Amino acid sequence: MTVPLIDPFQRAITYLRVSVTDRCDFRCVYCMAENMTFLPKKELLTLEELDRMCSTFIGLGVEKLRITGGEPLVRREIMTFFNGMTRHLEAGTLKELTVTTNGSQLERFADQLYAAGVRRINISLDTLDEQKFADITRWGRLPQVLRGIDAAQRAGIRVKINTVALKGFNEDELFDLVAWCDSRDMDLTFIEVMPMGDIGNEQRLGQYWKLSDLRERLAENYTVLDIPERTGGPARYVKLLETGQKIGFITPLTHNFCESCNRVRLTCTGELFMCLGQEDVADLRGPLRNSPKSDEPLVDAIRAAIDRKPKGHDFDYSRQSIEGQMSRHMSHTGG
Ligand code: SAM
Ligand code: SF4
Repeated sequence: MTVPLIDPFQRAITYLRVSVTDRCDFRCVYCMAENMTFLPKKELLTLEELDRMCSTFIGLGVEKLRITGGEPLVRREIMTFFNGMTRHLEAGTLKELTVTTNGSQLERFADQLYAAGVRRINISLDTLDEQKFADITRWGRLPQVLRGIDAAQRAGIRVKINTVALKGFNEDELFDLVAWCDSRDMDLTFIEVMPMGDIGNEQRLGQYWKLSDLRERLAENYTVLDIPERTGGPARYVKLLETGQKIGFITPLTHNFCESCNRVRLTCTGELFMCLGQEDVADLRGPLRNSPKSDEPLVDAIRAAIDRKPKGHDFDYSRQSIEGQMSRHMSHTGG
C-alpha cells in the first residue's frame, strides 16, 4: 500500500487546490492590477500534465480537488481536464471534485461540470449592486454572473457564495447578501482581505473589515450560534437561528487556522506551495516533464515538499503595518 502524505506536524495532506490558469476575465481590485502580464503558454502545465499531476496526488491519498485560478473556466478545453478526473470519482479514490469561480462562464459550463461529477461550487461575489460590481471587478458584469448562478442551481450543483468583506464597500449590503443567499438556499462565506500582491499597503489597510466586527453587526439582526463544523481549512461556521442559514468566516488574519491544515496548492506552472502564507515552493514540473515514463521522480519530489510543509503563516495586521505580506498575487495560487 502507498504511504499517505503526512507532514512533519502529523497533518495528513488530503486536499489539493489546483490553479489551472493565471488568466482571468475580471480584474478584481484586491486581487489583480489592471494591467497584468500573464505567463507564456509554454510555462503552463498542459491539460495532460495537469491530469498526470492530479492523478499522482490522488494515488498518494488526496481525496479532494478544488480547481481554481485565475478564472479556471477561461482555460481553453478545461472540460477535458474535468472529464478526466471523473474516472477517479467513479473509482472512489477521489471523494470530491470542486471549483472556485467568478461565475462568468457558468451559464456555458454548469451542465458539463455536473456531468463530470461536480456537485458543489464556490462562486465569488462581493456585491449585488451592478455598478459596484463593475467597479470592484473592473471588467465583470453582474447579470452574466447571476445567470451563471441560475445555471449552476438548475444543473443541480450546490452553490456557496464567497464574499470578500471590504470596509466602505459592502458593509452596507451585509443583510441584503445574507437574505439573498437565504432566499436562494445558498451558503455564504465571508473572507477577510489578505495581503497578496503589491497594490499598496495603505489601500489594503483601508479595505480591511475585521470579521469579528462583521459578526457583531450580524448579531444586531440575528441570533448567531457557533457550530463546530470544520473542514480542515480556515473557515469557521455559525448558524443563524432565525433562518437556519450557515455562514462561514475565513479569518486568516485574526484567527490562526494552521493547526488543522490539510491542504497544499499547485500553480498552473507546476509549483507546489505548501502554505498560502509562506514563500517556500517546490518545483514539480521539472520532475514531471523530465520523466515522461515513470512517476517515481514526481512522487519523490511531492514527498520531499510535504516534508517541508511549515507549521503556519505569519500574516499580521495588528500593528497598522502589514507583516508577512506575500509578493505574489492571489490569482497565482488560487486563494
Ligand atoms: N477567479 C476565481 C474566483 O474569483 O472565484 C478563482 C480564483 S480567486 C483568486 C479565489 C478567491 O480569492 C476569490 O473568492 C477571491 O475573492 C479571493 N481573493 C482574491 N484576492 C484576495 C485577497 N487579496 N484577499 C482575500 N481574498 C482574495
Ligand atoms: Fe479574477 Fe478571481 Fe482574481 Fe477576481 S478574484 S481577478 S475573478 S482571479
